[in-house]
Amino acid sequence: MTQFDLVIKNGTIVTADTAYQADVGVRGERIAVIGENLSGAREIDAAGMLVTPGAIDVHVHLQMPAGSDLVSADDFFTGTRAAAFGGTTTVIDFVEAEVDQLLMDALSARRAEADGRVVIDYGLHMTIAEADIAKLDQVPAVAQTGCASFKLYLAYEGFRLDDGQFVQALEAVRDVGGLPIVHAENGAVIRRLVERYRAEGRTDPRWHPLSRPPLMEGEAVGRAINLSMLAGVPLYIVHVSCADAVARVAAARAEGLPIYGETCPQYLLLTEALYERPGAEGALPVCSPPLRSEANRLRLWAALARGELQTVGTDHCPFTRAEKARGLDDFSRIPGGVPAIEARFPLLYAFGVRAGRISLSRWIELCCTTPAHLFGLERKGTIAVGYDADLVIFDPERKVRLSTETLHENVDWTPFEGTEVAGWPAVTISRGEVVVENGEFHGVAGRGRFVARAVTKM
Ligand code: MN
Ligand code: MN
Repeated sequence: MTQFDLVIKNGTIVTADTAYQADVGVRGERIAVIGENLSGAREIDAAGMLVTPGAIDVHVHLQMPAGSDLVSADDFFTGTRAAAFGGTTTVIDFVEAEVDQLLMDALSARRAEADGRVVIDYGLHMTIAEADIAKLDQVPAVAQTGCASFKLYLAYEGFRLDDGQFVQALEAVRDVGGLPIVHAENGAVIRRLVERYRAEGRTDPRWHPLSRPPLMEGEAVGRAINLSMLAGVPLYIVHVSCADAVARVAAARAEGLPIYGETCPQYLLLTEALYERPGAEGALPVCSPPLRSEANRLRLWAALARGELQTVGTDHCPFTRAEKARGLDDFSRIPGGVPAIEARFPLLYAFGVRAGRISLSRWIELCCTTPAHLFGLERKGTIAVGYDADLVIFDPERKVRLSTETLHENVDWTPFEGTEVAGWPAVTISRGEVVVENGEFHGVAGRGRFVARAVTKM
């Protein structure tokens, strides 16, 4: 009888298509067989458990510079370790070049920060900011190095592209067969609203969502879609937060256009009412786009269920309470972002699958399979022979109360404080290695690898 290095026995394998009981045999770093009565050097009994692909988070900001003296609080070690605790085995982060820096030099520098630190596999998107429009001839080299997805912004001074620059960037990405991804909010209108509120002394966090209206997210999403059609390139829209934006994505997809939308746990589970909290508490959940109304929140769940949005990423970008408090007297100076890298996969199970909003297979499609497919993670995102043995043994009954006590993110608050979830990973496996088991970390800094990606032709 063939002996495997690792066998996961008696579990229910869940994929984007189906769920069935079988054993998974792993040899080395890959799934070698799916069958019955397998035996291995190590065997894990997964009776009563779900066996899922490792989850994939294509939108994270680890040790992200935010101004001259600020960097997001999770580094490539703590952030990927927290991801692994929550069942995520691949993340994609970002490269941002300095104004006078070559894109390839920025990519090398970013890889030097991540390699040696990551505990799971990772990829990088290349950012094309305003100053990078002069560097579009460097795009082919970047794509050939395995960063075939490019981040474009329609908001944030310094990053924001005007419509002409946006089309130029889209064409450059199209010409290398890459995938553009976009932060779509109307930056010019937001800037005007922020100036107005500041002039009026309206500086509390509650003015943050009012400075970034849902209508101006919808407008930017619609414009980005139109410009991508002009350029003849697919488009992935990050962090869709509201019904206005969903409507644009859904309408484009109904016409058969290659448009893809992502939302995030914070928009599915939290609302703008949090900005009304007194003192520093109201500043903590400041992120952009902002948390929205209850009606928008419910619309996003419906969009996931109906197939109008395609993925759930986190936009994980933690800053500490002290860092958030820097903007207490001016909401526009609060460093933006929330932590979510650890809890995303269990949150989508608890509030999606268990709550009856999405099916088991849809959960896997949103968190694993579609992200892998869109972003060219060829051997990840499903459970099949020849794929990387990135696997989660998920205990559907394990209850966890989310808090800074139970989570491993390197930050002193969580927007999900006190939330009870039912369902949590018992074991997380990355390329055949157990990296987390029953709440204990067994990984090693630097064991994760950079994954070079071409993107799938869509
Ligand atoms: Mn963004
Ligand atoms: Mn982001």
